[in-house]
Amino acid sequence: MDERFQSIVDAGCSRKRLNPEDCEYLLSFDEKSLETAALIEAADSFVRKQCSNKGEIAAQIGIIVGPCYADCAFCSFAASTTDVEDYTMGPEELTRYLKEISSAGIVSKVSLMTIHNIDIEELLDSVRLARSVLPENIEIAVNTGDLEYDEAEDLFDAGARSAYHAFRLGESIDNWLEPRGRIDTMKNLKKAGFKVATGVEPIGPEHSGREIADHYFRMMELGCDCCSASRRECVPGTRLFDAGEISERRLLQIRSALLICSTWCDRTEFGFYGGFYGGFNRIYAEYGGSPKDLEEMSEKGLMRTVDWARRHLESDGYSIHDVQMYIS
Ligand code: SF4
Repeated sequence: MDERFQSIVDAGCSRKRLNPEDCEYLLSFDEKSLETAALIEAADSFVRKQCSNKGEIAAQIGIIVGPCYADCAFCSFAASTTDVEDYTMGPEELTRYLKEISSAGIVSKVSLMTIHNIDIEELLDSVRLARSVLPENIEIAVNTGDLEYDEAEDLFDAGARSAYHAFRLGESIDNWLEPRGRIDTMKNLKKAGFKVATGVEPIGPEHSGREIADHYFRMMELGCDCCSASRRECVPGTRLFDAGEISERRLLQIRSALLICSTWCDRTEFGFYGGFYGGFNRIYAEYGGSPKDLEEMSEKGLMRTVDWARRHLESDGYSIHDVQMYIS
């Protein structure tokens, strides 16, 4: 085993501070190498110890979708390539989804997802409805466009407590969004009281280990509470459809490297739980409209339902997190 590799992994497992160069080094090995196998094993056992082998399920519902003027080159809602029509989920349908998703008692968080260009009043109404329908111990998250401080504060007052806001690889190159607006929104969300999760995404074969490591550490420096990593999925009809996908193994290698390089940071959920949604012990089910799916309702397309999430975690050897544990 490579000596430098081993000393970085050992330091990460002991919660010692690591830097982007260490992370880049972990990512420099072939995904089929012995080193990568050891990295994945180290991250996996770190997570299992942190979470006592319990898995957590969250569910995302795409509630406001349609042609999105951010026009991300990988997204099924990109205005220049989509056939999707404007759609806002009505209160009755949203209530039905919320009840169905929460009925098994294994979902700890519901995220309401929208495209970039929305009427904020519609999202506020949906957050208030979700708060009135869901049990108190299910947290409400939002995944929406850029927000002014007042809008973030209104969403917090309506009952949302966490938010996912990506500063994407290729922001302003693969879409029309301004990087400044993404970062200001994260700051506005934090100032309004939100826990903010972000992600290194959408990772494609063209992204080097250095780019991924630098992006990740930059997100951590912004003070985000949690950072995930996801790959770009090839959605037919999008401008980046032919740009290729990284393998599941490479994605697992990336997630493992990012996790091992952030165990020192006890401000983040990594430090406490050692995992993140979209990998290891945490997983998102997806309902309603999804940027990764051409089906109108993703539970009928990609079929990543709560039951799929439960089976996925169980087949990885996790027991399912009891949401009652969230009652304080
Ligand atoms: S990824 Fe989000 S912001 Fe980008 S086009 Fe799709 S819905 Fe809009």
